[in-house]
Amino acid sequence: MQLNDTGLLQTQGYINGQWHAGNSNTQFDVINPANGECLAQVAEMAAEETRQAIAAAEQALPAWRTKTAKERSAILEKWYELMMAAQEDLAVLMTAEQGKPLFESRGEVAYGASFLKWFAEEGKRVYGDIIPQTNDRRGLVLKQPVGVVAAITPWNFPNAMITRKVAPALAVGCTVVLKPAAETPLSALAIVELGRRAGLPAGVFNVVTGTDAPAIGGEMTSSPIVRKLTFTGSTPIGKLLMKQCADTVKRTSMELGGNAPVIIFDDADLDRAVDGAILAKYRNSGQTCICSNRMLVQAGIYDAFVEKFAAKVREFRVGDGLDAATTHGPLITTKAVQGVHDKVQQAFAEGATVVVGGKPGSQGEHFYEPTILTNVNSSMRVFREEIFGPVAPVFRFETEQEAIAMANDTEFGLAAYVYTNDLGRIFRVSEAIEYGMVGVNEAALSSEVIPFGGVKESGQGREGSRYGLDDFLETKYICLGGM
Ligand code: NAP
Repeated sequence: MQLNDTGLLQTQGYINGQWHAGNSNTQFDVINPANGECLAQVAEMAAEETRQAIAAAEQALPAWRTKTAKERSAILEKWYELMMAAQEDLAVLMTAEQGKPLFESRGEVAYGASFLKWFAEEGKRVYGDIIPQTNDRRGLVLKQPVGVVAAITPWNFPNAMITRKVAPALAVGCTVVLKPAAETPLSALAIVELGRRAGLPAGVFNVVTGTDAPAIGGEMTSSPIVRKLTFTGSTPIGKLLMKQCADTVKRTSMELGGNAPVIIFDDADLDRAVDGAILAKYRNSGQTCICSNRMLVQAGIYDAFVEKFAAKVREFRVGDGLDAATTHGPLITTKAVQGVHDKVQQAFAEGATVVVGGKPGSQGEHFYEPTILTNVNSSMRVFREEIFGPVAPVFRFETEQEAIAMANDTEFGLAAYVYTNDLGRIFRVSEAIEYGMVGVNEAALSSEVIPFGGVKESGQGREGSRYGLDDFLETKYICLGGM
C-alpha cells in the first residue's frame, strides 16, 4: 500500500486532540482481505479510554456549541476540501483494508466528503419557531444540540458511514466520540487526521479504536454524559444497544440491516432492470445494507431476465481491489465467506439450482463466486436473511399483489427497487411496500441530499438531507409571559 501523504496512515486512537496509544499499549492487526497481509497494528483501547474520550467531548462541548454555525461550517468546508484533495490516498487505504475495488473506494470518498460540505451548509439553517398565542404569552421554540454524541460504525463503508453521522452532529454544535469497526480503523483515523488539519478543536471529535466492542459500547451506552447514540450496523447489535441505552434514556438513531427486494414487472425496460439489478446486488460484492437480497421477477419476463443477468455476471473480474481490472473484490472475513456459503448450501439442499457460481472463490480464502440461484422459495434462508454477499436468488411471481406481499414478507424495511413502466403501478407499489427508500427504475439511491434510513427492524432516524440534522437536535420551548 503506497500513499502519497504518509501522514494519513495513523495507528493510534485520538482523544482530546492527541494521538493516543491506548492505556495497555497493545495493538491489534488490520488485515488486507484480498491477501491476508497485515497492513498495520492499531492501538487497542477499551472502556477506560472510552471514558477519557467522553470526558474530553464533554469538556469541549460548551465552546463548540457556542461557536456560530458559520464558524463551525468553515471548519467542515476546509475538511471537505482536504478530503477531496486526498481522495486517491483515502481510496487506496480503504481498498487495502476493506477490499472493495478502487473505483468504488474513490466513489465512497467523494460520497463521504459530500456530507461534510452538505452539513456545513445545512448547519447554518437550524431555525426555530414563534408560536402565536391569544393571551399575554408567546411561545418560542429553539433547536439546540443534543450534546455529547457516541457513534458506532461498520466496516462496509469505512468512510461515509462516519461522515454521515459526524458532519451533522458537529455542524449543529454536538461533540463526538466514535468507535469505528475493528476491521477498518485506518480510514477512520485518516479522516480524523484531515479534521485535525482542518482546525477541529481538541475534544470535539474523538476516536476510540479497539476490538472489545462490548466494552467500548458498554461505556458509551451507560455513560450519563453521552446524550445520544448513533449506530450503523447489524439489527441484532442495534437491538442490544437500544436496550443498553434505555437506562439513561438516551436518544438513538439506528441504521440497521436490510433485505431489499428488486421487483421487476413484465412491462419493465429489461436492459435497465438488468443493469439496476447488477448494481443493486453486487456493489461491494453484495456487502451493503441496501444491496438487493431478493430478485422478484414476474413470470412473463423471468427467463429473459435470468439469461441477461447471468451473461453480465459472467463478465465480472473478481480479484484484489487494488488491481485496476478488478470489478469485484473479496468479502471482509473468512467468517463472512462461510456465512454466505451456508445460506447457499441450505438453498441447494432445498432444491435451488445454480445458474452461475455457487461456491467460495479460487482467488483466496476471502473470496466468494458471484452467484445466481433459481428454483428458490420464501422458506429458504436466502429469502429470509440478509445475505451480505454476492448471491442473487431470483424468485418468480405472477401478480402485482403477490409481488407486494413477497416484498413485505420480512422484518426488514430499508431499501426496495421497482422496475416498471406503468405509472399507476409505480404509485401503487411504492406506496404499498414497507420500506424507507424505494428506487423506481433506479438503483443508485443514495446521496447527501436524500433522507437515508429504514422502517421496521431496519432502524429509525434518517441520515443525510435536511432531515439528517433532526437526530442531533433537541426542541426547547420557552414561554414568554407578561407580553
Ligand atoms: P455489526 O457486527 O453490527 O458491527 C457494526 C459495529 O458495531 C462495529 O463497529 C462493531 O465493532 C460494533 N459492535 C459489535 N458488537 C458490539 C457491541 N456488543 N457493542 C457495541 N458495538 C458493537 O455489523 P457489521 O457486520 O460490521 O456491518 C454489517 C451490518 O451493517 C449489516 O447488517 C448492514 O446491513 C448494516 N449496515 C446498515 C447500514 C444502514 O445505513 N442501514 C449501512 C451499512 C451497514 P467491531 O467491528 O469491533 O466488532
